Amino acid sequence: MSGQVALVTGSSRGIGLGAARALGRLGFAVVLNGPAEDNELAGAVGTLQAAGVRAIAAAFDVSDLGAHAPALGRIEDALGPLTTLVNNAGVGVLSRGDPLDVAEASWDRCLSVNTKAMFFLTQAFARRLLSRQRAPDLFHSIVNVTSSNAQAVALPRSEYCVSKAGAAMVSKAWAVRLGPENIAVYDVQPGLIATEMTAPVIEAYAQRAREGLTLLPRVGTPEEVGEIIASLASGKLPYTTGQAISADAGMLVPRF
Ligand code: NAP
Repeated sequence: MSGQVALVTGSSRGIGLGAARALGRLGFAVVLNGPAEDNELAGAVGTLQAAGVRAIAAAFDVSDLGAHAPALGRIEDALGPLTTLVNNAGVGVLSRGDPLDVAEASWDRCLSVNTKAMFFLTQAFARRLLSRQRAPDLFHSIVNVTSSNAQAVALPRSEYCVSKAGAAMVSKAWAVRLGPENIAVYDVQPGLIATEMTAPVIEAYAQRAREGLTLLPRVGTPEEVGEIIASLASGKLPYTTGQAISADAGMLVPRF
């Protein structure tokens, strides 16, 4: 897809890297991001470049709001106008436990990275898009990665659930604001995906999936969620915006 340029936050590994790879396969130029210029980020860029993808790194901490506009400027100087923002960077709780014991630092970190950064990076991205003529043949979109926990409580991670519920509303608010501008906004809600974030609990999740927690009896992969993100970002669900897409093997289908 010539002319499509995507920034994927938190793409040094996990779901973000899965999305970057899937976008690259579709012909997007891809900007990979992590909070620091480390080996993991450089390695991720290298794998995309080796596959023939036009890929660069843009390291910045998404929770540093002052970094947003300068980073977008540098990206567009290097690759041309952005068409796509994937707000994927996210953090879990500092410590799992009873809501009675949640520390303010963990609450603040979840809200800052998972919710506030998503709102303001979208604002900076939208301001750039709205300030110029956009090629009408290119598909412009924002894909936010929230969570099944935007809807379902996981009690040992209550502050994370709050941050993701807020992020789901961030997605809806921007969908309403940007619809008239022909910019689609989606909310992808992963369920149980095997990544570094879930590594300590993935075996327990896999067992619960086999026992029926999910309708398809297994955990998912970053590649699968990446395919969903890339499909949305390339306009494969035409005439849609504002939707939450459950990437959860049917986990939240009501049943009794
Ligand atoms: P992951 O493997 O821990 O990857 C997270 C990525 O985000 C890493 O590249 C990380 O880089 C980056 N990141 C974290 N804080 C950042 C910041 N402040 N600025 C820029 N980059 C930052 O996690 P994942 O499982 O792929 O999760 C990706 C997204 O999916 C998150 O929003 C998560 O909440 C959501 N999600 C995941 C699951 C699941 O089952 N895995 C389920 C539902 C939702 P550093 O490590 O260098 O900080």
